[in-house]
Parts: sequence; structure tokens; C-alpha cells
Amino acid sequence: MRTQHYIAGAWCDSRGAEAGTQRLAVFNPADESLLAEVALGAAADVAAACEAAAAAQPGWFDAGPAVRAAALRRIANGVQNRAAELARLQSLNNGKPLAEAQLDVADVVSCFAYYAELIEAAPAEVDVPLPDPAFVARVRREPCGVVGLIVPWNFPMVTTAWKLAPALAAGNAVLLKPSEVTPLPELALAQIVHEAGLPAGVFNLVIGTGAGVGAALVAHPLVRKLSFTGSNAVGTRIAQSAAEQVKGLSLELGGKSAIVVFDDADLDAACELAMAGAFMNAGQMCSATSRVLVHRPIAQAFTERLVAQATALRLGDPLAEGTQMGPLASRAQLERVQAYVRIAAEENLARLCGGERIGTRGHFFQPTIYADVPGSSRLWREEIFGPVMCLRTFTDEAEAIALANDSDYGLVSTVATADPGRATRVANAIAAGLVWVNMPQLIFPQTAWGGMKRSSMGRELGPWGLAAFQQLKHVVQPRAAS
Ligand code: NAD
Repeated sequence: MRTQHYIAGAWCDSRGAEAGTQRLAVFNPADESLLAEVALGAAADVAAACEAAAAAQPGWFDAGPAVRAAALRRIANGVQNRAAELARLQSLNNGKPLAEAQLDVADVVSCFAYYAELIEAAPAEVDVPLPDPAFVARVRREPCGVVGLIVPWNFPMVTTAWKLAPALAAGNAVLLKPSEVTPLPELALAQIVHEAGLPAGVFNLVIGTGAGVGAALVAHPLVRKLSFTGSNAVGTRIAQSAAEQVKGLSLELGGKSAIVVFDDADLDAACELAMAGAFMNAGQMCSATSRVLVHRPIAQAFTERLVAQATALRLGDPLAEGTQMGPLASRAQLERVQAYVRIAAEENLARLCGGERIGTRGHFFQPTIYADVPGSSRLWREEIFGPVMCLRTFTDEAEAIALANDSDYGLVSTVATADPGRATRVANAIAAGLVWVNMPQLIFPQTAWGGMKRSSMGRELGPWGLAAFQQLKHVVQPRAAS
């Protein structure tokens, strides 16, 4: 597999003073073995990629929507044709069970296919009727130019596709920086983009750390738009840096989302939703519903079910059939989760299950549940990004809504109830960018993704995700005499 940067249509080693001497080690989180040593880039690689992108971008836009849509379809087909290999690579590098990685790959395919369709259908220009018939006006959608895409390690290929597909569709040229923890899925995707035959320079990938490559990308003057998915700490720094050059910016940040389970809900189904919401991807989801709000009349029965299911979850080799939860994606993430378990002990939280690392090789951690977690607890307020669920009971609808909204974040929420009126009321009252009612966390590329409060700035997916990579131009002139 390729382990170099992809710049100006070619695979290449690092440039600059340390050209090719420094490599980035990439590990398998399930057994801590070395998977690959890949190129480790720096500012010189970012500069080369930005220059290649700036040179290629006008031609890519001028080629027109049909050409760009065809390229996106070739990428979608390329991903589809290698679905098995890509899913395996995601499991190996990130540690998620193979079944979850397969869902990710399917999501990537549908995202590229959707934006191919949308860019052909969406009008690039609209006439705007004016009150004064002496003038005619039109508004054009133009690309931003060179765009920088920075993604995390928890859904490597998915977070990339949600940015890359609309950015390319709109006619931008791209510099992608994958996470230094999981660059392998993006390297495989870059090979597919290469085979799709995009003009050299339209797509570039530079591997490296946030400080080495990410910061250089954010600061590069040729980059006109940044789209970032990751932590609030880094997102805030990027926003500050982007402000200096007044760059366009989209941010997809953290969450501390709630699932609200009412006493009329189908308890088996609600339990399944709560389990997946907290423990899928070992809880390393921005959309994790790690705060579980349970209606008091069913609290005991529901809690017993949750604990029984959490204790029975099959942890193990992500590639093995039947594995329900893999390891955390890195040692740093394991240590972070362990630190929160220590905080829980200091806060005297009631632990119902879990709390321990499993084994000594691989970053496995038990599904962990705390009961009656007060609103002041750090475990209730902070994004842990691991398999840690916090429970709390409520007495009525108003309290459920108040507790769900008692957060700095507002990414998603889930509501479980048999009462359609209540479902609508609660969904409308919860401050979150997406509310699932009685259903798992399905995401359709046609809809909007993003959160309220500190979770997001802007939206991905759907036409909103395309608009994020476009800028408007208004052209107005006197009406020609007929
Ligand atoms: P992170 O912020 O540490 O890193 C994300 C990316 O930013 C990485 O590629 C990293 O190398 C890069 N980076 C780090 N410092 C940088 C800098 N100074 N300048 C530019 N780039 C820099 O996040 P992570 O640990 O990889 O991912 C976990 C976080 O991502 C969680 O907070 C999670 O909620 C969030 N997330 C959000 C969404 C969403 O859609 N809202 C989706 C997935 C993950």
C-alpha cells in the first residue's frame, strides 16, 4: 500500500530539510503491532500541495458539473469495488468491528454518488427578479478555490468523504490532512481518487501531525476555506488562526448528547438504541448519546437491562466474526478514558459495571456505566470519547428536555417514546442539530449534519454541505434594449 504524500497527481516523499528521513509509525490498536511507517510531512509539503491545487483549480471548475460528476461517480465505483479491502483497513487502523467499518464504506459510496447527482441537478446560476425592470441580476455559485480538509481518526473515511465529495463537486481543489492516528484509510482512498483520473493538483493529501501539517495548512495564504472535524480545543485554535486571514471556516466539533427514554417506549428497542449510542465504535463518536435520561417509572428495569447487555458485549479482535466492540483507537485515547474513570472515583459516582482495561496488549476497555450522575459531574458535562455511559432519571417531559439541554454541546439526540405527539414536542424542544426518534443513528447524505451550540459551525451533507464549499457572486447590469 502507498505510504507517501499525494501531491500534484503523484506519490512523493517529504520535501524540505528532513526530506524522507522522518516517518510516522501507524499502529494496530487491537494488538499494538506496527501496521506501516508512512511519510511525515511538514510546511514544505503543504506549500507544494497548495501551489499545485491553486494551479489546477480554475480548470477543474471550468470543466463543468458533468465532468466533475463523472469523476465523483468513478470514485464511488472505486470505493465500492474495493469495499472489502477498505473496511478491513479501517478495522485494522481504527479498531472498529468489521461490520461497523462496512457501514462506513457504504456511507462513503453513497456520499460520492449523492454529490455527483446533486451537482448535475443544482443550478449553478439563478436569475433574481428585481423591482426595477431596467436591470437584470443573476447570482452564481462559484467554488471557494483551494480548500483545506482536516479530519479525525474516529470515522476516518466517512469524515473525509463528507468534505471531499462536495468540495470536488463544487469545483474546488483540495488538500486533505488525515489524522496522524489513522492515515491508512485515506491513503487507500487517495489511490482510488488517483485511479479516477482527476487532473493533477485537484486532489492532494499530505500526512502529518496537527502541529506540523495541520497548522501550516490552516496558515497557508492560498487556502481560502477550511473544513475541520475534530476536538473543540483544536477547532477553536483553527478558528483563531483562520480569522487572521478571514478564511471561510466550517467546524464539526464535539458532543455530549442525550438519549431520552420515556416509560411508554418499547424497552427492548430503546435499550438497543442506548447501547449502540454509547458503545458503537467503542463510544468514540461525536454523536455518542453518552447521557442516558430514563423516565423514573422504568428506571430500575431499564438500568438492569443496560447493565446486563453492557456486561455481555463481546469485545475482541475487530476482524473476528461476532465482535461487538473493538479496542480504543490509540493509547492516548485509552489513557483519556482511564483518566475519566479516576475522576469518577474522585466524584464518588456509582459505577454499575466496567471501569477496567482488558488485558495488557491492545487498547481494550470495558463498557462502563455510572448511575445517578449529577449535572455538576465532569463525566456528565465533558466529552469522554470512550465506552462510558452516564445515567440519570427524570420525572416528566419538561425535566427530560431541561436535562437534555443542560450541555454546552448540541450535536444530536435520540428520543424513545410510543407517543407521536410527545416525540414531536421533545424533538422540537431539544437543542441539537439532529434528533432521531425511535430509530438508530442512521445518516442520509441528502440531509443536514451538524450541531447547535459548541458542537458545530455550519452544516455538512445535503445541499448545505455543497453550499459550504461555494461562494456567491452577484452580477447586475442594465437590461439590454430589445
Ligand atoms: P483532534 O482535534 O485532536 O484532531 C483532529 C484533526 O486535527 C487531526 O487531523 C489533527 O492532526 C488535526 N490537528 C491537531 N492540531 C491541529 C492544529 N493546531 N492545526 C490544524 N490541525 C490540527 O481530534 P481527534 O482526537 O482526532 O478526534 C476526536 C474529536 O473529533 C472529538 O472531539 C469528536 O467529537 C470530534 N468529531 C466530531 C465530529 C462531528 O461531525 N461533529 C465527527 C467526528 C469527530
